[in-house]
Amino acid sequence: MGIVIDINDFLHYGNVKYNLAHADKMLFDRCQAAICATTNLIKGEAIVTDISCKLFTDNPDCKGTVTVLITHVPNQIHWKCPACGSEGIIKNWKNSPLYIQFLKDSNQKSKQIKSITLSSEEFEKLVNLSDGLDECKAMIASAQKTGTSYTISVNTINVFQILEKLIFKIELKTPDRPFYIKLRDELKTAVI
Ligand SMILES: [Zn+2]
Repeated sequence: MGIVIDINDFLHYGNVKYNLAHADKMLFDRCQAAICATTNLIKGEAIVTDISCKLFTDNPDCKGTVTVLITHVPNQIHWKCPACGSEGIIKNWKNSPLYIQFLKDSNQKSKQIKSITLSSEEFEKLVNLSDGLDECKAMIASAQKTGTSYTISVNTINVFQILEKLIFKIELKTPDRPFYIKLRDELKTAVI
């Protein structure tokens, strides 16, 4: 799993914590720069990029570039440098204030987020969920498999109907509650 960094650890109600130690602030700034460097990459498949390993590891000795796999659910960036073998995960990348600012500045939000990408594991949970929910079957049918991930086009499904059902499931406190909450939040973000 390597270097695991959760963007939420640096935030307080969406803003950068004011009392971050200098080293943490440096780390956070570097992670945000790494997140912004990946914004244009296709989600859901491993992409060989020209993004410097240094941005992810702060190791000036490695001249390698990273391979990146980004998913929305879970909200993670997996990266790996074939040159030095370093790897890691940035969790909750979408909460990065710099990334959010980037979206606002480039006014890309409405154009960009029309689909969500799920890992195989999360997609299986969705398939299980669809057993009891007719509304979810259309969502599953629309999924495109790319590598080990699945991309669902949010334009082709009745998201609001599914949201309602998901909220009901969450209230029932199923064991997969965190999954339903994540899925609900991703769908919400995609349609707003
Ligand atoms: Zn490296």
